Amino acid sequence: MKIRNRLNPSNPCFSFEFFPPKTDEGVANLLKTLEDLAPLEPGFVSVTYGAGGSTRDRTLELVTRIKAETGIEAMAHLTCVGHTREELRELLARLAEAKLDNVLVLRGDPPLGQKTFTPAEGGFSYASELVRFIREEDFNFCMGGACYPEGHVETASRDDDLRHLKAKVDAGLDFVVTQLFFDNAFYFDFVERARRAGINVPIVPGIMPITNYDQVQRFTRMCGATVPMRLGLQLERVKDQPDAVVQLGVAHATVQCMELLSRGVPGIHFYTLNKSPATRMIVSALRART
Ligand code: FAD
Repeated sequence: MKIRNRLNPSNPCFSFEFFPPKTDEGVANLLKTLEDLAPLEPGFVSVTYGAGGSTRDRTLELVTRIKAETGIEAMAHLTCVGHTREELRELLARLAEAKLDNVLVLRGDPPLGQKTFTPAEGGFSYASELVRFIREEDFNFCMGGACYPEGHVETASRDDDLRHLKAKVDAGLDFVVTQLFFDNAFYFDFVERARRAGINVPIVPGIMPITNYDQVQRFTRMCGATVPMRLGLQLERVKDQPDAVVQLGVAHATVQCMELLSRGVPGIHFYTLNKSPATRMIVSALRART
């Protein structure tokens, strides 16, 4: 199933993102988690692509197994990091052979400690180049890409970033998923600017339920997402009470999602960080509402 056909404001699709566990036991646990999530009827799940090393193979293994063993549509993320075009062609061919219909096409981050992204020799500098390559090579994937309501961390200006996004979409993307945000105003403003710039594909909001105080500090530093002042103060107050942090995170994300749904989003993508209970609580509440 091509994800673009599931993104519909009159029947929004909930999707869940996981990263590949490092061990076989972790993979087995993840597949069990997915069985628990299946009753929530996810539109699809996606599996991230690591910066290098053995977890990369696990992405392919996991998406294949998820689709075959749970029947849930599964999308692999793929980045340009460290890959030549030939390697990327081979990986894409393996995805096609496994009858996977969807890929989230990304550039990837510069390696730790480096400020700028350096492409592999014979590789790509930007996600848009990989998108174009996939179209030119006649792969028949439905392709998603990343976008940044608050601007990508490396960009000089949000207008530049939007221009680059337009080029990436024009290269052949079918939909985009946003970086996480905690204030819906960023999303609504971004969608308005994107439409004005002629970007017409579905823009799926990415929501990360906060479940851990230190983790949210780390993530927001890394991706540049703003924590609204009120939420920040509430978090400070409960930071030493792990259960209260989760309750606050679930409550905040639920309120965010309710507003997004009431304003007609085509779906909501949850960054689960492999912790499904919070996402399960939120989606159960949202399903009860519809
Ligand atoms: P691009 O679209 O290539 O943009 C990168 C930067 O280059 C931006 O600042 C953009 O404005 C600029 N740019 C683009 N084109 C041009 C141009 N022609 N000239 C000059 N500048 C240009 N990372 C992983 O490693 N694995 C994952 O699985 C993963 N999954 C993700 C899922 C989502 C939904 C999101 C939002 C991010 C994900 N990331 C993942 C992180 C992502 O790889 C980083 O944010 C990375 O820094 C940018 O990737 P991109 O595909 O957005 O890059």
